[in-house]
Amino acid sequence: MSGHWVIRGARPLGGAPADITIGGETITAVGPGGERSGAQVIDAAGLVALPGLVDLHTHLREPGREDAETIETGTLAAALGGFTAVHAMANTDPVADTAGVTEQIWRLGRAAGHCDVQPVGAVTVGLAGSRLAEFGAMAESAAGVRVFSDDGRCVSDAVLMRRALEYVKAFGGVIAQHAQEPRLTEGAQMNEGVMSGRLGLTGWPAVAEEAIIARDCLLAAHVGSALHICHVSTAGSVEIIRWAKSHGWQVTAEVTPHHLLLTDELVAGYDPVYKVNPPLRTAADVAALREALADGTIDCVATDHAPHPVEDKETEWAVAAHGMTGLETALRVVQEAMVDTGLLDWAGVADRMSARPAAIGRLPGHGGPLAPGEPANLVLYDPGSRAVVDPAAHASRSRNSPFAGMALPGQVVATILRGRPTVLDGKPA
Ligand SMILES: [Zn+2]
Repeated sequence: MSGHWVIRGARPLGGAPADITIGGETITAVGPGGERSGAQVIDAAGLVALPGLVDLHTHLREPGREDAETIETGTLAAALGGFTAVHAMANTDPVADTAGVTEQIWRLGRAAGHCDVQPVGAVTVGLAGSRLAEFGAMAESAAGVRVFSDDGRCVSDAVLMRRALEYVKAFGGVIAQHAQEPRLTEGAQMNEGVMSGRLGLTGWPAVAEEAIIARDCLLAAHVGSALHICHVSTAGSVEIIRWAKSHGWQVTAEVTPHHLLLTDELVAGYDPVYKVNPPLRTAADVAALREALADGTIDCVATDHAPHPVEDKETEWAVAAHGMTGLETALRVVQEAMVDTGLLDWAGVADRMSARPAAIGRLPGHGGPLAPGEPANLVLYDPGSRAVVDPAAHASRSRNSPFAGMALPGQVVATILRGRPTVLDGKPA
């Protein structure tokens, strides 16, 4: 359904209304009086236009756990959330640790067509933490892998981490670390603090995250390579990243929507929908994360969309799986936590949810400005609506949204991928 479109009266980055004209796969004009005979028109009066969102951290679960999510359902959820590209994490079954598996995921993403799928390669073979995977073969494959991560597990061996950082320098890649010192988090169930003491659950100390981040910032500096830190969750982590950046080291970081809005007080009801890795932290941590995202210490928002089937989630707290869905609510949560609080404007949202993640993910064709000549990847968003989140209405195969029942602002009205609508009127196009 690509062709010629005129998006009438949208507000690029929340600014003055303009018409956005699309010819084929490209934006051809942005300004008043967009006209083109034969063009289809989208009435976007009052809607904010943003570049298509890019997620650095999505678990699509295919291959291996198609009962939780498939590339088809996960990428449709992404499009409904305003995303035009997602990075698919490597902890599938089989693990995405070869050129063959990463190419398979990349091809399935193209076949689904809802958004671009950029596979992340595993750092270690089978995520086992003992032997480096063949980065070069994955980088040279059709998938063109540039981001490597054992996410779900930490690369805790300092020598392996050093070698991984050295290896990616050859082709300008980046290591994305899930920072969790394993010995300090054995049996951990929730954030270590007042709440864990009150609830009698084994605590997950902030230092378990911060110690790995500090070590890896030093390793990245020593090697002169690029480190990305997944799902930063503590105020102390923010301080370490700020310090590393002040030295000019190649360190970037992401924060999830749930860590920007939710706290460990929610665990009081022992509802496993709030069980996540890293855990929900305190209100002081949430405030520090918001401030860091606003001032750029944390570069971007990444969902860590982690779908789980009901039987793995609606069970006792101690045995329930870690993780939350997030693709379909991310922009709305960011509006609630960052925009409606005055911490970020829409240009800032475009930077933190499109330009920066595309740059960190080494993803060409995404993250560009809404300007003539750029690929026509964009989202039209209504910040004025407000509705209660209902996971039953989500496209994701899983229902484990921590925002279920919460009233959140905003509605993705349309998503356009290279000139072709993937979402129109808030529904799959
Ligand atoms: Zn992780």
